Amino acid sequence: MRIAKAEVFPLAIPFSDGSAKTGLMPTKWTHLQIALLRLETDDGIVGWGDGFSYVCFKTTVSAIEEMVLPLVVGAEIDDIPAFNKMLQQRLHLHGRYGISIFAISAVDIALWDIAAKEKGVSVAELLGGRTRTEVPAYASLVRYGDPALVQEYCEKAIGEGYDAVKLHEVTLAAIEAGRAGVGDGVKLVTDVNCNWSAEETAEMMPHMKQLGLYWVEEPLFPPDNEAALSALEKEYGVAIASGENACTAVEFARTIPAITFTQPSVTKVGGISEMAGICAMAAAAGKNVMPHCPYFGPGYWASAQMMAAKPNAEMFEMLYIEADAWLDPSIPLPKEGMVSIPDKPGLGFEPDPDVMKRYAV
Ligand SMILES: [Mg+2]
Repeated sequence: MRIAKAEVFPLAIPFSDGSAKTGLMPTKWTHLQIALLRLETDDGIVGWGDGFSYVCFKTTVSAIEEMVLPLVVGAEIDDIPAFNKMLQQRLHLHGRYGISIFAISAVDIALWDIAAKEKGVSVAELLGGRTRTEVPAYASLVRYGDPALVQEYCEKAIGEGYDAVKLHEVTLAAIEAGRAGVGDGVKLVTDVNCNWSAEETAEMMPHMKQLGLYWVEEPLFPPDNEAALSALEKEYGVAIASGENACTAVEFARTIPAITFTQPSVTKVGGISEMAGICAMAAAAGKNVMPHCPYFGPGYWASAQMMAAKPNAEMFEMLYIEADAWLDPSIPLPKEGMVSIPDKPGLGFEPDPDVMKRYAV
C-alpha cells in the first residue's frame, strides 16, 4: 500500500460516570478525548487509528502530525511491523515511550485496518485467525471514593450480566464495599494506580488476599519495578497486574516473567504490531494478558480484533461510563458481559461523520 493522505481529527465527547470526577489525573476527567487518525491509500482505501490521549490529546495530535506523519505520507508499506520498527528507529531521539509511541500506535492501527480491508478480511483474520467470535469483558468502574457508591455501581454492573468488576479504589472500606456489591465468587480487582506507599501496600495486601481479589493493579510507584511487584506476589499470594504504562515488547520482556498479568494497551504500546508480539511472548511463557482499556476510538475495535486472534488475552476492559455519543454508533458494547467481535473487513470501525463534526475540537 502507498499512503496518499493523512488527517487527524481531535475530538472530545462528554461522558458521565456517576463520580465526583476527582479521580486519578491532575485535572477532572469529563470528556473522552480522541486523537482520531484517518489514513488513505492512493487506491482510496481508508484506515482509522488513534493514539492514547487521555488528558494529552492535543499533544498526541501534534506528535502524530509533526513527528510521525511526515514519515508516513508517500510511504510504500508492505510489512507493517517492519514499518513500525522503522518509525521507532527514525524517532528514537524522542524516546520510544510515552507520547511518541502513542503517536506511532495510531498509525500502526490505521495501517492494519487498511491491510485487512485490502484483503477483505477482519484484522483478527489477518493476525492469524478469528479464534472466537466474542470475548469476556469486565466492568472497569471509575474511582467513586465513597463506599456506598462503590457498592451501588458494583451491584449495577453485576445486574447487567458482568461477572468480573474492577475498582479503582484505594481504601479498605471502598474495596470491601466492592466485594459486598459484587458478591462472593465474582472476579473482583482493584487498580491502585501507584497510590500506595510501601507501608500502605504491606498493610493492604493481606486484606486483598482475604477479600479474594483476582489481582491488585499497579499498587506501587514506579509501576515498572518488576522486582518489587514480583516480591509482593510471592509474599502475599495475590496476583499483581501492571504494564498499562509500558511500551513496546522490550519493556514487556522484563514484566511478563515477573508478574501474573501484564496489561498492554493497544493505543500506547506501539499499536497492533507490538501488541501481537507481546501476546505471543506471554503465551510462550504460559501467561494470559489483560489488555488495558482502549477507550472508545478505533483502539476499542483494535483490542477486540486482537483478542479474537489471541486466546491468551483474557478479559476486555470496559470503562464503565456513559458517553454522550459513540464515535461509531455500532460499537460492540458488552452484552451480558461479552463483547462481540465485528466480522467485517478491517477493524469493523466506521465513524459517524455527524458525531465527528459535533464533537470536533
Ligand atoms: Mg489501570
